[in-house]
Amino acid sequence: MPIKENISLIKNQLPEGVTLIAVSKTKSIEAVKEAYDAGQRDFGENRVQELVPKYEALPKDIRWHLIGHLQTNKVKYIAPFVHLIHSVDSENLLAEIDKQARKNNRIIPALLQIFIAQEETKFGFSFEEAEKLLHDSPGKKYPGVKISGLMGMATNTENKTRVQKEFRDLKEFFIRLRTLSSELRILSMGMSSDWEIAVKEGSTMIRVGSFIFGERN
Ligand SMILES: *Cc1c(COP(=O)(O)O)cnc(C)c1O
Repeated sequence: MPIKENISLIKNQLPEGVTLIAVSKTKSIEAVKEAYDAGQRDFGENRVQELVPKYEALPKDIRWHLIGHLQTNKVKYIAPFVHLIHSVDSENLLAEIDKQARKNNRIIPALLQIFIAQEETKFGFSFEEAEKLLHDSPGKKYPGVKISGLMGMATNTENKTRVQKEFRDLKEFFIRLRTLSSELRILSMGMSSDWEIAVKEGSTMIRVGSFIFGERN
């Protein structure tokens, strides 16, 4: 598996200021190590049960990103070390991250996941809900969380125009929200199938798994 080559292939095309998250879910510790040895430091996982053992086994300068739906009862296991939670999809979860962050004397950076796809199954806030949440000064209510940006997943489709439009709408929303909170810096959008479109549309963080590590079973 040419993990190193795949990473360079992407990195060579990324504009300054766009971060690559290598999504290592279902992949072995050895595969992560291979990417690490190629200089990769940001890794994404979507399950707490998989993230914690990898965190324990691998070098401590890795920045671990939680990218999938997070259950409130699992936040406590990652609160001591997680670098960024991409997938805050309810105020309940925000409150729990705040609680666990404060227990650990941390301020945990997190992104609001915004629902932009046509599919019914994806988690996230609507534009309206996210805007309302940010209006209510979440920094005062939840001092243990730093809301640092937005995350979105486009519809899983061959229709590139559709995907581009979803990313563009999210970017425009992001720009508008920044007038409410100057702390919003990160726009996490783009995966193996659509990261090039996402970068063109202004993504600052792409989450790429199968393109780097190969297809998952
Ligand atoms: C799995 C996953 C990715 C990476 O998907 P690939 O298609 O393998 O690049 C990105 N973001 C989220 C939220 C994921 O769950």
